Order: sequence, then structure tokens, then C-alpha cells
Amino acid sequence: MPKNAPKKTNPFVYLFIIALIGAAFALFSGDMNLLGPQQVEEIPITRLMEKYENNQLKTVEIKDNQVLAESLEGEMFRSYKEPTANIQDLGFNDLTKDTSVEVIDTSGGKMWMNILIGVAPFLLLVFFLIFLSRRAAGSMGGGEGGGPFGFGKSKAKIYDKTKHRTKFTDVAGAQEAKDEVVEVVDFLKNPKKYLKMGAKIPKGILLVGAPGTGKTLLARAIAGEADVPFFSVSGSEFVEMFVGVGASRVRDLFKSAKRNAPAIIFIDEIDAIGKQRGQGMGGGHDEREQTLNQILTELDGFDPDTSLIVIAATNRPDVLDKALLRPGRFDRRVHIDMPDMDARAQILELHAKNKTLSKGVDLKKVASQTVGFSGADLENVMNEAAILAVKKQQKTVTQANLNEAVEKVSMGPERRSRRITPSERKIIAHHEVGHAIAGHFTENGEPVHKISIISRGSALGVTWFLPEEDKYLMSEQKMKDEMTSLHGGRVAERLIFGQTTSGASNDLERISRIARSMIMTYGMGDQKKIGPVVFAEKSKSYAGLDFHEKDFSEATARAIDQEVQRFVLEAEKECEKTLKKHLPLLKKIATDLLEKENLSREEFLAYFETQKKKV
Ligand code: ADP
Ligand code: MG
Ligand code: ZN
Repeated sequence: MPKNAPKKTNPFVYLFIIALIGAAFALFSGDMNLLGPQQVEEIPITRLMEKYENNQLKTVEIKDNQVLAESLEGEMFRSYKEPTANIQDLGFNDLTKDTSVEVIDTSGGKMWMNILIGVAPFLLLVFFLIFLSRRAAGSMGGGEGGGPFGFGKSKAKIYDKTKHRTKFTDVAGAQEAKDEVVEVVDFLKNPKKYLKMGAKIPKGILLVGAPGTGKTLLARAIAGEADVPFFSVSGSEFVEMFVGVGASRVRDLFKSAKRNAPAIIFIDEIDAIGKQRGQGMGGGHDEREQTLNQILTELDGFDPDTSLIVIAATNRPDVLDKALLRPGRFDRRVHIDMPDMDARAQILELHAKNKTLSKGVDLKKVASQTVGFSGADLENVMNEAAILAVKKQQKTVTQANLNEAVEKVSMGPERRSRRITPSERKIIAHHEVGHAIAGHFTENGEPVHKISIISRGSALGVTWFLPEEDKYLMSEQKMKDEMTSLHGGRVAERLIFGQTTSGASNDLERISRIARSMIMTYGMGDQKKIGPVVFAEKSKSYAGLDFHEKDFSEATARAIDQEVQRFVLEAEKECEKTLKKHLPLLKKIATDLLEKENLSREEFLAYFETQKKKV
């Protein structure tokens, strides 16, 4: 465990003391007359002066702008004077009279008050700075020094294991990734066992996986399981506006970790600092480069026996600087895949634990409907379903809640309030049915899961194709089929209404993207014209502007464009052929959709059953 920093005094204690001192001064200077004189009659200063002239007063006391007088009969009077008027001005200086005139000098107390008022903001500032620097230094556990300006200190958080009890059991699925890190945790617990065997445990482990697959969660589980200090930082925390700060934070982080070894350092989202160096043409990324260099130095700097392990997480391993991945650095990669069917069911079960599900709810079915969902998405589905159940005042979460939640998470919430004119609705209906029919008749297309003309998110309608199983390879034909069904909306608009609308822009974008990657990345273009070569386009930024850089000639660029166009047009032709053939069906389904707003998979498939029977 890190050495305990001395117990810090809360800065508010100082503030309280200042306030007390101030109050004391105010009291002694007499501003707060706690005893409060009784039965004092307030009279104008001229009347008081009259009484003085007439020898009716025993005493006169002048304090600030108050004149307090006692008559010979013991009555008390109070008057107010101009602050600048002195006893001469008022005429209380007649030495022939018996009245005792006393001027009480409050400037002593005033002076203290003035000093206090002048100094207080400054004191506050000093205390505030001390407070800040302590916090910055204090979060390092051992943080010695730091001074009032501890910006160079690492902001790493040490996990308090009593509070963060994430365990490996909280990570569902991801079995391979878990196995790998279990080994690491075991090494830190019993280093001797491994060293005796001559085994070397890697210094750096890179967790790689799409966003939401549970990288941060797994790291937290390691922290919960390992019996060693766990220093956690996020890559973005290194990058601040002061040049040199990142590097000094890295140094500080490794220093503290080494002092507490065996220990784990976790750098989340390392791509924020670990991007390839020398990319910024203007040298604008100096800060990041310095930070990265420092990390590399530190990784090389500790020998394997220190029992220090650095774990980093990223969803962009492709942009990481090659130097980071060299042997002896982050040479071991642990991939966290998108969850497959079983893993999805396990994740759903895990997040269903604290919710009451209706009897007969089948989470496996939900898992089968959520191909391509990440762990975070699935958690979101469970949560949305629970919210829906509460909204509908149910006691338990039903399968219907879950289905609705799946739709909401994958397509955004329904937006029934959006105003859509009847003619627009008609276009949307035909557009969506166009997608569905074009997709339905392709050989490799995913089955239609649902068609809807209720707006969701930014989409006016949706045709939802749902893969039935996890797939890891996409064939050429499948990509072409996908383009064909994407054309369906626009082609249907043209066939039915004689013109197209702006509603197809997103479809076209996706079509172009598919065609382009088929040719430029997968080598599926005409082999004589282009061939199986990967063509890369890089964008660099200079002075805030983006520049594109191609690693191929203009002639090749033209050939690529022609091939892309050919692919897109071929798919469109294919789509048109299908829709023309089934035009009456398209119209019929669209009419029904206009009425029902939603068509389920079964309802959609029923149209084809009846058609078959007729034939
Ligand atoms: P990443 O860091 O990979 O982007 P996170 O670790 O932040 O993803 O995951 C976000 C949330 O999703 C987690 O807090 C957790 O609730 C849920 N989650 C993700 N993967 C899993 C999993 N395998 N098991 C259980 N929950 C998961
Ligand atoms: Mg994360
Ligand atoms: Zn569309």
C-alpha cells in the first residue's frame, strides 16, 4: 500500500478561523454593541446642541457618526452627525460647561478591520492554491512536495480496493481475454513461481477492442482481483495545454508505481497519446510526442524483475506508433471481440441480475436479435427495458419491453411528434418497402426483421435487416446484395413517383462506401484494370487544415472511380429489375404499411406465401 500522506486540514477550517478573528475585532472595536442601551431617545442633532447650550447634558459621547448624550436627569439621547463633522463644528467645545465631552476613537479597530478586509482575499487565494496543489499531489498517494503548482504531477488514481470491487465474474464472455489477464494477475501475486521457471511475463499488455466491449471494465476487474496497487490514468489526461506537462506526468506516474511495486499501471485510451509520431507537418504535436517518448523511455527503463506491469487499452491499434508495439514494450495484445451469441446471453443475464424479469423471458432470444451489439449496448438494452417497464407501471420486465428496448438502442427512440405530411408518408412507405423487397430477393441479403414508417432519430423510416447469426467474413456477392437492397428506396421512389427525393442520401453514401472499399481495400475490382492492390488514402493535417494524400497515381484514381461507378450502377440495375417485377406487391405492401405503421417479419413474409400459393 502507498505510504499515507499526512492528514490534511480542510481549508475551510482556516476560513472559519479568519471569520472568527474578524468577528472578535469587530466586537472589541465596539461596532457590535451587544448590551444594547435601553430607552434611548433619538433626537435631531440641533435639539441635542440646544440641550448642550442650555446646560442640560451631563455627558456627551461622540463615536463615529453617533452622538450619545445623557441629560442631568439621566435620560439618554442619540443623534447622528455628518461623519466629517468634528466637535468644533458641532460646538461641543465650550470649556466653560460642566458637560464631559468624550470622543471615542474607533479608528484603531477600524484599522484592523481595514487590514483584514484588504488581506482576506489574498489569504483566501493562498489557501485556495494550497488546497489545489494538495489535491493534485495528494491523488498520487505518496505525492511528496508538489509545491503550490503541482501541474506536472501525474493525475493517476489509485484504486481503493475496498470501494471498487469489480471482479472477473463481472465481465461476461470475453473468455480468452480473461484467461490472458488472469495469468498476469497471478504473476503479480506469485512472481517467484514464474521466475523460478524462467518464465518472463510481458511488461506491457495492450487491450484491443471496439468501443463498449468492456476494456475499461476488464481493467477494473484486474484492479479488483490483483492484490497490488493499481494506478489508472486516461490517455487524454496527459495531454494538457502546458508543453512538457505530459512527459513529467509520465515520469511521475512510473516513479510512484515503481516505489509501490509490485504494481499495475493502466493507461486507458492510449491512442490519445500513442498516435504515430511525425504526422503533424507543422510540428504541432510536440506535446504528444514528448509524452509518448517519455512512455517509451519508461517502458525500457524498468527491468522485468520489478514486477511492474503496464496495461493499456485502445480501440484504434492501427493508429498507434509502431515503437509502442516493439518487443519489450506493449508486445502482447489481448483482443476483446464483439460478444458472440453465447457471450451476449451471458452479458444480458449479468445485467438482469438486479432487475425482476417476468417468468418466461428468454434472454437467449434477445441475444439472437442483437447481432453486432457490444457489451455496453446490451447493458443499455437491459436498462431501457427496465425503464419501459416502470413507465408502463408493470411489476416486471417483459419480453415485449426487451424487444422495444432492442429497437430503441439500435435505431434510436421513436419520434412520433415529428410532423410529416400525408404525401411525405406515402413516399417514405414506398421507399422502405422498396428496400425490403429488393433485399428480400437477393441471395445473400439479411432477412427483413421489421419495416417501420415511424421516425426514429434522424431517420424518417426504417427497414431493419437482421442477421441471424454472427458472421466474420463478408463475401463479394453479399456486399453486392447489400448495395442492391440499399438502392431499393430510391429506385422505388423513382418507379412509383417518377422522381427521387433527398431521403436517399444516406443510402447512397453507404452504397458508395461499400463499393469503394470493395475496390480499394478488398481487391474485388476488375482484375485487369485494377487488381488486388490495397490503395490507401491518408489525411494529414497541417495548421488545422486537412490534406489528402494518395499513394496511387491520378490514372489509377480515375480507374478506381470508374470501377466504383460500375459497381454502383450494376447494383442499381439489379434492384430495378427486382422492383419492376414485383411492382404490384410493392404498392400493396406500402399501402398496408401506411395504415399499420409497422410490419413485422412475419407480416412481411406472409405476402410472399400467398403469392406462392397463387402461382
Ligand atoms: P470500453 O472501455 O471497451 O469502451 P467499457 O469497459 O467502458 O467499454 O464498457 C462499458 C460498459 O458496458 C461496462 O461498464 C459494462 O457495464 C458493459 N459491458 C461491456 N462489456 C461487458 C461484458 N463483457 N460483461 C459485462 N458487462 C459489459
Ligand atoms: Mg473504455
Ligand atoms: Zn433508404
